[in-house]
Amino acid sequence: MDIHRYLPDLRASGIRWPISAYTILIVLNILSIPFGPDAVLADLNKNPLGPILAVVVFDTPWTLTGLVGLIILFFPVLFGTPVTERRRLSIFFTFASISIGIAAGVIWDRFYDTTGFIGAGASGVAIAGQGVVFALAFFGLLRLWREDTRKLGRMSSYWWHSFALIYVTLILTTVWFVVFLQSIFVPTLLYNWRVHEIAFALAIGVTVVYEGATWSAQGLDGKLRIDETLLNFHFDDLNDRFVRPLPKLHVLFAQLPAGTSSEFHPELGEIWIPESFRGREYLPRATQLDESLLHAMLHADLCYSGKPWKHGDPTGKSGFDAAADGVGADREH
Ligand SMILES: [Zn+2]
Repeated sequence: MDIHRYLPDLRASGIRWPISAYTILIVLNILSIPFGPDAVLADLNKNPLGPILAVVVFDTPWTLTGLVGLIILFFPVLFGTPVTERRRLSIFFTFASISIGIAAGVIWDRFYDTTGFIGAGASGVAIAGQGVVFALAFFGLLRLWREDTRKLGRMSSYWWHSFALIYVTLILTTVWFVVFLQSIFVPTLLYNWRVHEIAFALAIGVTVVYEGATWSAQGLDGKLRIDETLLNFHFDDLNDRFVRPLPKLHVLFAQLPAGTSSEFHPELGEIWIPESFRGREYLPRATQLDESLLHAMLHADLCYSGKPWKHGDPTGKSGFDAAADGVGADREH
């Protein structure tokens, strides 16, 4: 697997947002250790902004581990989301978890604090992040149920099942975590429990609102749209039909001259599909898109077999047409 092929996807996903924000939060937590977290809290307690700033004060190593873990848990729900929605989702996750984590501390301080002393730590942020991931996993399952990609082919079906398994795992481990491991539903007003309950519930609520507001863009309307993820998974589906499978080529959209159905670029390891397919519904265009992809894959097959594979020169053209007839014959439409 060539990592460079996936770097543009990583950059476009906005994953740097939660990574940077959580890193800053972790560093601030660690920086508070030499000053003595209790002393810092005592100072903050005299400050009207204290309850807001308390998230930067170190509480336990578990909180910091939790923040790192949340980034890892966020990865699968981010990459199960349509490509066009990923950056927005990363920004939402970052701002929602941090502001809810802070808000939960402020709410506790304002309404439940019987000690007159604010609590420390970013654990509210971690629990809020977990609430967002928890809710996103339910929406991920809903998306899989509504836009069923199992019928596209073997590899799309494999990814469908993988994501279903990942979402179910995220849901069950979160339930296990908040109910048994680090039980947050304990009948007490003490800082930790109450703040965590508030953060978890708020995070789920805000995520439901967010998903509702971006419903169709998230693919929750059940319409399967053509995006880079579908192109690349479906390349694998079609590659299954080749006697000698092609290497994993990267499929992407490009501005192609009118009338060009697709292009193969061996020097880049890429297949270019006309921009006009982008974001359109798949099912009404299934035949058209399959033909476009197969056309470039056929060029690739000829090229890798050492045969003339380009249009234009007479030997190349006849070689291509002969092979094209063969592929057309076993197409299942
Ligand atoms: Zn061609």
